[in-house]
Amino acid sequence: MRNRNQWAAGWLVILLLFALSASGQALTVQGDTGRYRLNHLIDYFVGDEQSPGQALQRGQWQAKHDDSVLNLGFTDQSVWLRASLTIPEPLNRQWYLVIPYPLLEEVDLYILRDRQQLPIYHISREQSETRRQQPRSYQVALPLPRDLQGDLQLVLRARSATSLQVPLELWREDRLLTQFSLRSLYWGAYFGVLCALVIYNLFLFLSLRDSAYGYYVLYIVSMSLVMLCISGVGNAWIWGGHPLLTRYALPLSTALVSLFALLFARSFMKWQDISPRWDRSMKVSAGLAGLLVVYTWVDPTRGALFAGLLATLVIFLLIAVGLAGLKAGVAIARYFVLAWTTFAVGASLYLLNVFDLLPVNLITNHAMQVGSVAEVLLLSFALAHRIKEERARKLAALRKQQMAERQVRDLELLSMEQAMHDSTTRMPNASLLNQQLHTMMRANRRVALTLVHYPQIKDIASSMGHRLAEEMFCQLMSKLNHTLAGLQGVICLESRQRAYLAIPEFGSAAFLIDLAHIEGPLEPFIEQVVGNHEISVHAVRLPVFMNLCCGVAIAPEHGDSTEILYQHASAARDRSESSKVPVQVYNNEISDFARRRLDLVTALPPAIQAGELTLHLQPQMSSSGHKLVGAEILLRWHSARFGSVSAREVIEIAENAGLMDLLSRHIMTQACRTMQTLHERQVDINCSINLSVQNLTNSHFVSFALTDIREHDIPMNRVIFEVTETAMMHNMEAVIGSLLKIANSGCRIALDDFGTGYSSLAYLSRLPIHELKIDRCFISQMCSNQNDLGIVQNTLKLARSIKLETVAEGVEDENTRELLSQLGCNRLQGYLFARPMPLDTFCDWAKTLKGSPC
Ligand code: C2E
Ligand code: CA
Ligand code: CA
Repeated sequence: MRNRNQWAAGWLVILLLFALSASGQALTVQGDTGRYRLNHLIDYFVGDEQSPGQALQRGQWQAKHDDSVLNLGFTDQSVWLRASLTIPEPLNRQWYLVIPYPLLEEVDLYILRDRQQLPIYHISREQSETRRQQPRSYQVALPLPRDLQGDLQLVLRARSATSLQVPLELWREDRLLTQFSLRSLYWGAYFGVLCALVIYNLFLFLSLRDSAYGYYVLYIVSMSLVMLCISGVGNAWIWGGHPLLTRYALPLSTALVSLFALLFARSFMKWQDISPRWDRSMKVSAGLAGLLVVYTWVDPTRGALFAGLLATLVIFLLIAVGLAGLKAGVAIARYFVLAWTTFAVGASLYLLNVFDLLPVNLITNHAMQVGSVAEVLLLSFALAHRIKEERARKLAALRKQQMAERQVRDLELLSMEQAMHDSTTRMPNASLLNQQLHTMMRANRRVALTLVHYPQIKDIASSMGHRLAEEMFCQLMSKLNHTLAGLQGVICLESRQRAYLAIPEFGSAAFLIDLAHIEGPLEPFIEQVVGNHEISVHAVRLPVFMNLCCGVAIAPEHGDSTEILYQHASAARDRSESSKVPVQVYNNEISDFARRRLDLVTALPPAIQAGELTLHLQPQMSSSGHKLVGAEILLRWHSARFGSVSAREVIEIAENAGLMDLLSRHIMTQACRTMQTLHERQVDINCSINLSVQNLTNSHFVSFALTDIREHDIPMNRVIFEVTETAMMHNMEAVIGSLLKIANSGCRIALDDFGTGYSSLAYLSRLPIHELKIDRCFISQMCSNQNDLGIVQNTLKLARSIKLETVAEGVEDENTRELLSQLGCNRLQGYLFARPMPLDTFCDWAKTLKGSPC
């Protein structure tokens, strides 16, 4: 039995010797060389033998002659290695067996004396790190005994949960320490950069509350964790002595990197807005990464494999997403693509090395670090660019908002300006005047509200166009404002444009006078202010003489509110217009007048119905004044309540109260009956009927009048319609239409009150007019006033030249008659011959005439 044992031991030694001889030459270690590489000296096999004895008994040791690192890729089996050493003299320093691959979880080193079976020394990675006898290292560093000498054999077992690489080196302690310092510097810089980026982006996240920065911080933290694992820094400084922790930390952090990279990419470029399809694929991948985070806790070994595969997929997905972003015109995507491509290159180099598809060298070892740091830096640039873009966007939005606000403010100012100003003259309007008036009245100041009205302005607008009328009105107002500005007591309504007057409506002006500054009577003062403005307008060339009427009401005497004061000033202005007094200060009589007007308006329609309004006839004589040739039909209202109401007032009331059509139809029918009666009584003369402007702008009335004449069998050429010059200026188109209708029917048209308007004869000659009635104001003074005589002479001459008949009205004395006869006026009318009289009286008067036609 003993012999058998001896034989067996002998065979073992032979086998061992054979095996040793097969392993190639031994390395001679000299103390003065600080470092040796052993990669080319090792034999190895993959197997799960438990002791070096068992391992050495195996016959499948493979020799490895080149200097490359032993790389077995992903395997969870152990690998056994051996190498021979010769140490001629005892080493007086501490030496280490160094394996620069920190992912190895289990490492056991056995040292055997040459040709002996039992190890003289054993140390595991865990023991060495928990004892911490050796200096810190980022690699696996196992201390060798100090007293080693002679021929020795190193037998090593290594195992890793992930990839299995076993680079073998021998390092003297001082050299190892130097290398450790250098590496610390290098890793310090690397993690320093990552830390700075974490702090910077965390700060941005807290201040901007943008989830992209939050995810980015988590991404860098996860990436740092991956790097802590694969670099050995985590093991050296954080979880030293617990290599198993790396087994969990590596797959977990890889899955987290994928998860946060996807979440970051989604919120960074706001993919949900750009492409929902890409966003969905990122969401699905993020879900997978989330699942993997959980799975790695259950099965870290397979989890690491899956996490690696998913990370590869995610990188390609992110690059594709970035390219899609570039295509969609997202400028920031270029940083994104560049960052992920850099990282992809680095990671693929590293992974290809891990899976044993690329050799282990300086580049493949550090590709991941370089790629990751370049990537996080590029992504930080992208984030900075995003801040810049967002700031620019916010600035643009702010500017836009400011502009919109300014526009709204301008609009408000404009509408306020418009609400307070007259659109034509840009002067203040009634609202601004009322504000001032109100303020003054509240301060118990004695103030006069003056309303000025220019009646011709509206006529000019109708006849010559609004532009011209507005131009004239603006000139007039600017002159008046200038006059007011130079006077004491006139209140400035708006200091900005030095406006002293307001425009209540087109054709009217209003201003305020502080009576504390006025000495003496008010009327002459105002008369001097408003005066008679003569303005010349280029379009007309001739200076146009502007009539005006002016009403004044004084606070507090004439009213204790702005409304009442305004109402009373308006009543005074109306009175000024009807009485032809240029300036009228309000008084009780005016109030009575206004009240009477109101009563008349109410009384007029029933009076028409009751036949209270009658027609009188005033004869028109031949040029010599001896022969009756015609009569003007004039309205008369003798009211039981109001007494005689003048024809002018009745017409004015009817026009203002909208009763003109009713009244005119009544007059027309009466006039036709009168003409019928005249014919029956053989007084066959022409009859003139007065028409007002409202009759001419109402086509229905003209048709009615012409039908009425026909129905009464009156020869059309016996009827003359009298229209005033001013009536011609209103709504020209309608008026001319009516005149043509009349002229075409055979009736004649006379231009009444000729000379008081401003129309030129040449212009009138183009209208269907048959005769001119020269106004009374020229006729009554023509014998004493050379001017009037000149006007009458010229009018008669011009009328003759354009073949118009002439009528002179207001012939009151024999001299005038004679002069007109001499000048060749066709017909004469006036008190000299007879006043207007009722039909019967007229017929009687006509019979008394010598040589009369009846
Ligand atoms: P008008 O058309 O100019 O009429 C002539 C006015 O002069 C009449 O006043 C007449 O009585 C007055 N008159 C005539 N000869 C003399 C004179 O020698 N001296 C003076 N001082 N006056 C003289 P009346 O009747 O008061 O009419 C005033 C105005 O009322 C008329 O002026 C006319 O515009 C208007 N009117 C009168 N009747 C009618 C009518 O039936 N229809 C219309 N639409 N208007 C009428
Ligand atoms: Ca008349
Ligand atoms: Ca007249």
